[in-house]
Amino acid sequence: MAGSGKFFVGGNWKCNGTKDSISKLVSDLNSATLESDVDVVVAPPFVYIDQVNNSLSARIEIAAQNSWTGKGGAFTGEISVEQLKDIGCKWVILGHSERRHVIGEDDQFIGKKAAYALSEGLGVIACIGELLEEREAGKTFDVCFKQMNAYAGKFGHTVSPSPPVDAVPSWDKIVIAYEPVWAIGTGKVATPEQAQEVHVALRDWLSKNVSAEVASKTRIIYGGSVNGGNCAELAKQEDIDGFLVGGASLKGPEFATIINSVT
Ligand code: PGA
Repeated sequence: MAGSGKFFVGGNWKCNGTKDSISKLVSDLNSATLESDVDVVVAPPFVYIDQVNNSLSARIEIAAQNSWTGKGGAFTGEISVEQLKDIGCKWVILGHSERRHVIGEDDQFIGKKAAYALSEGLGVIACIGELLEEREAGKTFDVCFKQMNAYAGKFGHTVSPSPPVDAVPSWDKIVIAYEPVWAIGTGKVATPEQAQEVHVALRDWLSKNVSAEVASKTRIIYGGSVNGGNCAELAKQEDIDGFLVGGASLKGPEFATIINSVT
């Protein structure tokens, strides 16, 4: 890994689980031996966050899978950052491809949520990634840079519009998750070389558009069909600083293998 923070592994449980299955998963995670030098976060469905927070080892932090763009109020069905903090969340996953492509969230809306979550002290796992047709059309970097630009613009780091300096959040709390859409939930993982190529480009983008320091410190993690069998090869790549894991994070022992793949 090249980012100077710790290896970071997130488990995105998506819209899966019941009280019973989640209780079993938590107990498997509590009894697993986890490499100490890795930040581990899990994102249960909202309705189970409290259950998980009350039973999961404090070694693992909790993320939400979404948050609202500002303070709570008359926004039916939404959950505010303040509420997430109140029940013990430290992180939120934003910009996930399922929210972009199934629910229809756009770059600006996602950027706004991310900036608000950061301003309130939540860590943000900021997802980006290209569709298969975009990759095949040679547009992978364009798409990823456009999505990065939307985040950074809301964080006060692009040329236009340029907010006042005190609007710029700390990048310590931002983890970039590169998740090619064609690899998510498909079993079709990116090759270590494909992932590494994009991660290098993203680090270079951060260096040019934010700062060399942020580029060297920010963790860029990979997501898309990561499992116990392919994680070790991916983790060897210089610029892969961790993983965002969907399906395989629902199996405690396999998720532990992925956490322990740090090199
Ligand atoms: P997957 O999902 O590991 O099931 O491909 C990854 C993600 O959506 O974050």
